[in-house]
Amino acid sequence: MIRQYELVERVKSYDPNADEDLLNRAYVFSMKAHGSQARASGDPYFSHPLQVAEILTRMKLDGASIATALLHDTVEDTDTTLEQIEKLFGKEIARLVDGVTKLSRLELQSDQTKHAENFRKLVLAMSADIRVLLVKLADRLHNMQTLHHIEDPEKRRRVALETLEIYAPLAERMGIHHLKDDLENLAFVEIYPDADASITKRLTFLRETGGGVVGRVIDELKKVLLDAGIEASVSGREKSPYSMWRKMQRKNIAFEQLSDIMAFRIVVPDIGACYQALGVLHSKYSMVPGRFKDYISTPKPNNYRSLHTGIIGPERQRIEAQIRTPEMHDVAEYGVAAHWQYKQGSSGMALEGRQYRWLRELLDILDHAAGPEEFLEHTKLEMFQDQVFCFTPKGELVALPRGATPVDFAYNVHTQVGNRCVGAKINGRLMPLRTQLANGDQVEIVTSKTQTPSPTWERFVVTGKARACIRRFIRTQQHEQYAELGRSILHKAFRQAGYDYTDKAIAGVLKKLKAAEVEDIHAAVGEGMLTGHEVVAAVYPAIRAPGRSPKVVSLEGRRLRAKKERGLAVPITGLIPGMAVHFAGCCHPLPGERIVGIVSTGKGVTIHTIDCETLDSFSDQPERWLDVSWSIDDDQNYVGRLHVVIANEPGSLGSLSTVIGRSEGNISNLKITNRSVDFFDILIDVQVKDVRHLTNIIAALRATPVINSVERQRG
Ligand code: MN
Repeated sequence: MIRQYELVERVKSYDPNADEDLLNRAYVFSMKAHGSQARASGDPYFSHPLQVAEILTRMKLDGASIATALLHDTVEDTDTTLEQIEKLFGKEIARLVDGVTKLSRLELQSDQTKHAENFRKLVLAMSADIRVLLVKLADRLHNMQTLHHIEDPEKRRRVALETLEIYAPLAERMGIHHLKDDLENLAFVEIYPDADASITKRLTFLRETGGGVVGRVIDELKKVLLDAGIEASVSGREKSPYSMWRKMQRKNIAFEQLSDIMAFRIVVPDIGACYQALGVLHSKYSMVPGRFKDYISTPKPNNYRSLHTGIIGPERQRIEAQIRTPEMHDVAEYGVAAHWQYKQGSSGMALEGRQYRWLRELLDILDHAAGPEEFLEHTKLEMFQDQVFCFTPKGELVALPRGATPVDFAYNVHTQVGNRCVGAKINGRLMPLRTQLANGDQVEIVTSKTQTPSPTWERFVVTGKARACIRRFIRTQQHEQYAELGRSILHKAFRQAGYDYTDKAIAGVLKKLKAAEVEDIHAAVGEGMLTGHEVVAAVYPAIRAPGRSPKVVSLEGRRLRAKKERGLAVPITGLIPGMAVHFAGCCHPLPGERIVGIVSTGKGVTIHTIDCETLDSFSDQPERWLDVSWSIDDDQNYVGRLHVVIANEPGSLGSLSTVIGRSEGNISNLKITNRSVDFFDILIDVQVKDVRHLTNIIAALRATPVINSVERQRG
């Protein structure tokens, strides 16, 4: 096990500016925090974070990453809190430790969450700072190295599969090949022990019969290159059991046919020498067709650069040769980390800039993914960028579209949670419900049984579910309010005609009025689609409503007529004569409201209120917009619009309609604009004879106890 001073010295050897004190304090803190905890192997637990830190020094990561590695399990596995970490080690380390902790918690989630592809996206999304991911990969590597100490075979298998499906591809994606190879080979032994055993056995056999062939090939390649004046360092290695297994899977070939089991690396001083060396090999040995690849002129998306070729080399062995410069070699081995080192060396950026550079580079790499070989194709990347991943207080994962708010989160958890949501704590702080959530946010929804959804939520929610639930709720609520109002109007109408109102009587004329339920009739009356007299007339056909058409019209017919009448009674200026006019169902424009017309071919003009959200969908078609306005003719029925604030209690809407009715006003429309625990805000259009009539109604309303305030609303 590496010692404290060795670790510090190693970091200082490649990062002379590293904070020595920070490393020492992190070392001691972690050791104390883990105390007497032990690993499955029986080793003290602290050996684990220390090894993880050691792995990262080989990748030459900065001091903050090493300190994070030392501390990475303290929050998850000891009494240590994140606040403590921040107090002792500062914001940066706390943020990194928090990132690693969150990734560790993900591993504890249900298997569904872990569906490999989603999980990889999630891990990436969570690793806003690439160092979080690097610490996590090193953590995983050490856990794989010590996997055999875990007794439960099911657990071993699960961890190995996860490594193969999630972490190895991530390491590859970041171009850290040695890490990818190690992870894969360790997982392979666990998952396919038989395959691993037979491949290893075969390799041993070939190695023995070959009798030091690798060494002889290396010597000959060196000599051939030196003769051509190229100074090269050559190393050879067998391909890993796992990569051979993969090849056998892909190409459906037996092991006997798998000839190029050896790969040789030829490292030469510069790019020119790479192509020279290639020329030497191709002229000296036969080239295997179809194996040449120039990743120098066309680097892989993860920045990997090398020349690859297959030759029938020394000893008539079929071999693969990779030719590269030392820099390319480091990038191939250490991926993003090395890439950064090289760039960093020349520019000497501040730590701040360095972090963003890392992140930018990762995103850049991800952005340029191409081909089916890459696990994150572009389309999937877009999916990942479209999502935001948050947690419930219990640590369960909730995936939402980007831009989602606590209200979306609440509805995602449960419809009732959404409907009763009054506030949200994001990472422990009370935040407005319209706040956009960020990756890794922990969201706690505050609910109240008396709370109901607010129509204003619709403006900022992004999920279909939230939107649908809010709309459904408001529609039902409105229907109920209209029904309540309608019922009281009907009671009065029946009484005036000398009858007692009963639901049964209404049930008898449902067919006649083409309504499905008694409550629909109530709502229609409340909404002004039917008058009380018309319902009475339907039940008692002998009755003639004064001044009204004696004909009973169906509910649907009445609705159409009401629309038409509204259109005729309140004409609109700015239209071409004879043009059909519709009032939009989305915003129900009312006289006095600022309006615009949208021309639809074959349908005429649809009138919307100027603030209607539907208009957004026409924003790119200015030719369809018509400037229109209400023109109210003095000779016609005057519609006064009132803004009423009324107590939210049973019967209050009934009192409202009674007062207006007693004052001989006719409610032509009613809209609840805001609903709180205590009060409703209502806009009422009342048909009146003149302004005095309206003033009388306002006075009568102000005298009513349940009514809080009444104002004339002017468009
Ligand atoms: Mn760990």
